[in-house]
Amino acid sequence: MLKIINLKAKVDGKEILKGLNIEIKPGEVHAIMGPNGSGKSTLSNVLVGRDGYEVTDGAAMLEGKDLLALKPEERAREGIFLAFQYPVEIPGVSNLEFLKTSLECLYTHQNKPLLSAVEFMKLAREKCKLVDLSTVFLKRGVNEGFSGGEKKRNEIMQMLMLEPTLCILDETDSGLDIDALKVVADGINTLRSPDRSFIVITHYQRLLDYVQPDFVHVLSEGQIVKSGGSELALELEQKGYGWLENGTEQPV
Ligand code: ADP
Ligand code: MG
Ligand code: MG
Repeated sequence: MLKIINLKAKVDGKEILKGLNIEIKPGEVHAIMGPNGSGKSTLSNVLVGRDGYEVTDGAAMLEGKDLLALKPEERAREGIFLAFQYPVEIPGVSNLEFLKTSLECLYTHQNKPLLSAVEFMKLAREKCKLVDLSTVFLKRGVNEGFSGGEKKRNEIMQMLMLEPTLCILDETDSGLDIDALKVVADGINTLRSPDRSFIVITHYQRLLDYVQPDFVHVLSEGQIVKSGGSELALELEQKGYGWLENGTEQPV
């Protein structure tokens, strides 16, 4: 699904990703954990092609295609999706218009028949219900004036509508109460399937109580310094990140 080889990237002239390797097979859920500032959001932004992130070395292949050669909108059409750590507000563009346009682009690219207005509304209502968001939010500007929790649930709502092949969730669980956290986990678990993969970036083990990852990686100073199974998340919860930093593994 995704193969990242020796990826190096700069932000604002400063090297943040310093040779990152990761391979994700279809159906797998990979959790990426790591201290603040280690490059987790940078990695997600580089993968979706956000402006201002300069790849200086390495490669990233999505289903065998050179991901880094594609424009951000082309990457989205190929099925890559990012739930932002800080979802952006798009005043003047309603959630409905946004979702409708996105779905139309996607379905056209996939040669799938477009939904009728009635079918589309039915689908949108169904997904709102799944994330416990009132359908009133469909008519409002994208994330405009939404609370933190509503924004995160709206990101999951988008993900459920678009059914991406590679879902990246950047700290979607941060700052959420337990009910909203379960909504996020349910969203991931609902979409989990043999032909879809997830990168779940999180600071806390808490989300991983509800979403069992196949692999856990620790990112530190722009490199993966340790990988393991879900037990690694528990270990990190107990020991923190200190023992893994600077690439030297020194268990306490
Ligand atoms: P994480 O998500 O792991 O907390 P980030 O990827 O957000 O880490 O940030 C990694 C480093 O890159 C930090 O030192 C941060 O200050 C820097 N950085 C990220 N985005 C920008 C930006 N747009 N401009 C300047 N520095 C940035
Ligand atoms: Mg951070
Ligand atoms: Mg971040």
